[in-house]
Amino acid sequence: MTETRTAIVTGAARGIGAGVARRLAADGLQVAVLDLDAADAQPVVDSITEAGGKALAVGADVSDPASVDAAVEQVVAELGAPTVVVNNAGIIRDNLLFKMTVEEWDLVMNVHLRGAFNTVKATQKHMTEAKFGRIVNLSSTSALGNRGQANYSAAKAGIQGLTKTLAIELGKYGVTANAIAPGFIQTDMTAATAERIGVPFDDFIKFSADQIPVARVGQPEDIAHAVSFFVSPEAGFVSGQVLYVAGGPKA
Ligand code: NAP
Repeated sequence: MTETRTAIVTGAARGIGAGVARRLAADGLQVAVLDLDAADAQPVVDSITEAGGKALAVGADVSDPASVDAAVEQVVAELGAPTVVVNNAGIIRDNLLFKMTVEEWDLVMNVHLRGAFNTVKATQKHMTEAKFGRIVNLSSTSALGNRGQANYSAAKAGIQGLTKTLAIELGKYGVTANAIAPGFIQTDMTAATAERIGVPFDDFIKFSADQIPVARVGQPEDIAHAVSFFVSPEAGFVSGQVLYVAGGPKA
């Protein structure tokens, strides 16, 4: 593969997705920075452009198949057929099981699981036609179970099953699928968790770092580095894997 590749990164207006989008652009890919509102994605696009890369802000709700189909068509028209997809868009609606509503369950399932399904459905044709594709899905250490996250941990475990099945179905077309399961990454999502449990974010970070073998919390760049490896052409024999990027062996 010598031609410039096009990547779609979902939920890329901030946090891990923004870090991944910037890293893939620095690696030489053209990047569709997809988020709910294209205007929110524009600052990430601007930072990529200022650094000499090429990117496009795209608005779409990953849980809505029609919205995803339209977004992929826009990417094909304005950047080229996407052969790298990073399913990163995510939300949390934490609650203990006895308080969790069906709406909280459905919202989380719809963004993480249905969202990843919609995006790979809409892009797989471009990857199989190119005989090259790289799918990276964001799971979480919460896939192993986490108090207050019945919806989120089920979705993140589901992501692992989806990833392994994609690896099996699409492998013969040169398409790999892998999952990254981050531990604590310093983003708005973990800030929201600190707020929900009533702890100042700095204290939450310090407490979390004390539990992590490398004695620090993760940054979006830590995940972006792992994504960069999985989507590289040289990683074509690595598929169906779940890489825990958590500063240690345990969640
Ligand atoms: P974040 O800062 O909350 O960013 C998530 C992004 O996804 C936001 O820009 C959000 O847009 C977007 N998004 C939400 N729903 C969407 C939808 N339906 N369609 C399109 N975009 C949507 O989260 P993060 O911490 O970077 O997390 C990124 C991913 O890593 C998530 O899948 C998360 O579950 C996973 N993860 C995070 C951690 C961590 O410690 N941070 C750990 C393990 C796994 P809005 O701003 O408009 O809501």
